[in-house]
Amino acid sequence: MSGISALDRGKVIGKVTSEQYDLVIIGGGITGAGIVLDAASRGLKVALDEKSDFASGTSSKSTKLIHGGLRYLKQFEIALVREVGMERAIVHKLAPHLVKSEKMLLPLIKDGTYGKILTSLGLMVYDVLAGVEREDQRKMLSKDEALTLEPLLDESVLEGGGLYAEYRTDDARLTTEILKTAAGYKADILNYAEAIDFLYTDDQVSGITWKDHLTGNTHEIKASYVISAAGPWVDKIRKKNHSFEGKRLHPTKGVHVVLPREKFPVNQSVYFDVPDGRMLFAIPRDRVTYLGTTDTDYHGDLNDVRTDKVDVDYLLDGANRAFPDVDLTIEDVESSWAGLRPLIEEEGKSASELSRKDEIFESDTGLLSIAGGKLTGYRKMAERIVDKLAKRIRRDQDRKISDCITDEISICGGPFEDGEDVLKYEQVVAEKVKSAGLDTYYGVYLVGNYGRQSDDILKHFQEIDNEDPEIRLALAELEFTINIESVQSVMDFFERRTGRLYFHIQSIEKLRVPVLNKMAAVFSWSEERIQQENGYLDKAVEIASHFN
Ligand code: FAD
Repeated sequence: MSGISALDRGKVIGKVTSEQYDLVIIGGGITGAGIVLDAASRGLKVALDEKSDFASGTSSKSTKLIHGGLRYLKQFEIALVREVGMERAIVHKLAPHLVKSEKMLLPLIKDGTYGKILTSLGLMVYDVLAGVEREDQRKMLSKDEALTLEPLLDESVLEGGGLYAEYRTDDARLTTEILKTAAGYKADILNYAEAIDFLYTDDQVSGITWKDHLTGNTHEIKASYVISAAGPWVDKIRKKNHSFEGKRLHPTKGVHVVLPREKFPVNQSVYFDVPDGRMLFAIPRDRVTYLGTTDTDYHGDLNDVRTDKVDVDYLLDGANRAFPDVDLTIEDVESSWAGLRPLIEEEGKSASELSRKDEIFESDTGLLSIAGGKLTGYRKMAERIVDKLAKRIRRDQDRKISDCITDEISICGGPFEDGEDVLKYEQVVAEKVKSAGLDTYYGVYLVGNYGRQSDDILKHFQEIDNEDPEIRLALAELEFTINIESVQSVMDFFERRTGRLYFHIQSIEKLRVPVLNKMAAVFSWSEERIQQENGYLDKAVEIASHFN
């Protein structure tokens, strides 16, 4: 099984500091993950450095949809809708346990964003552009049909609906699994490794200097080429390279809030109108429903993006109007997340109007930077930038690099034939967790998070001695994620590998001590480090669930 072990970190550091690489990538979000897999699978010798944890930037803060971006049709971004629309089916094929098909309901309301004819036409174009299979193509619904699907909708303004195909995922898990897949192609991947400067040879970048945030030590990686996939931090890196000119980023903030399913019991995912002309998603996920997103200009600290009360009020007001019986209040919000879209500045355009297209910047010193885009389009973004790099390698080294093959590389966690195969496996896992004294919900949870790697976690589960099955399961996941997914801090575990901070925040109190004890034993943490980690957890819970 390919993976990135926290316990092999010393070995990887020894290697990256002593060998010469073809390419070093800065940033371990979905963009960097896509690039490292693309480049390594084409035979390049690649290293990747992430300054914090994998997916700790925007790639754990999205709406978690692998979608074509219906709203971009309205902005006539046909090429973008077509590309990401087509990508959905490919990414689903590569990881059907992690990218699941999901029908989206778009209610048609009196004076809403889209009328009946425009919706019908728009969804048809959307299906054609994305090459959606006939049986999955959009279906227009009468008012009664829409209400049957979603009885919580406001009957007094409802005129009908459109039902269309989308996919949902977990962004942080997808990023991690792609990185693990790249490690299977011999890529050397490190978290908590911040690129702090560049190395130059004959005025061309020839590697990076990086700081190990776990030890405080500074090291170098020598590489013929450097790509920055630093998301919202791309301009900071361009400044370090003295190449910050021309186009720049315009980060916009997006917030999601999480509500208990019983308080907001939507039957299915809904994409609905709010009074300011925008639209929000309500997405049921296991025991909760999450709601988002906002889209506002952001000028604050890139490393400390928070959900403000005004964001929560906006989202709850939108939901309360569209679903008049739910009566959501701020006290109902269990958790939340806030992230930044690394969009490219366009003069005179507001946050919502900015294009979601990706863009590559090339500096005189050879640094390639990529920003913008969508989670959904990560594979094509990677293909484009590695194609560009392949041309340079051909020019500089007279070496031919093969074409992109990532549309055929199954992402870690499989293989599964299709969604049906996932469901069958889910039933097997659900039976096992039930007989171990756990709610069958954990079957869906395990397979959705880890796919067939659930077998390994259940094996660890058998070996752990604890009376409480929920603690046993968490410790089994911890064992797996330290060994295979480079968990280095409690937050890596609670926030990005397992999603508990967002989707089961109440479980943290029970799991905190056992998880801390186990990590302290594995990593020989000092008392001071244990206190520090405890503090990180307190702060994260506070930020996710309290709003100013
Ligand atoms: P990031 O995920 O931010 O990754 C960049 C990484 O670089 C970070 O981890 C950072 O720590 C690291 N880094 C920075 N500086 C350094 C350094 N000096 N050294 C080493 N590492 C460094 N897209 C979709 O397709 N579907 C959606 O449903 C969707 N919803 C969204 C909702 C919101 C609210 C937002 C904000 C975005 C959404 N997107 C969605 C867009 C998508 O999430 C982003 O396009 C994508 O996650 C960006 O990934 P990235 O890797 O470019 O950036």
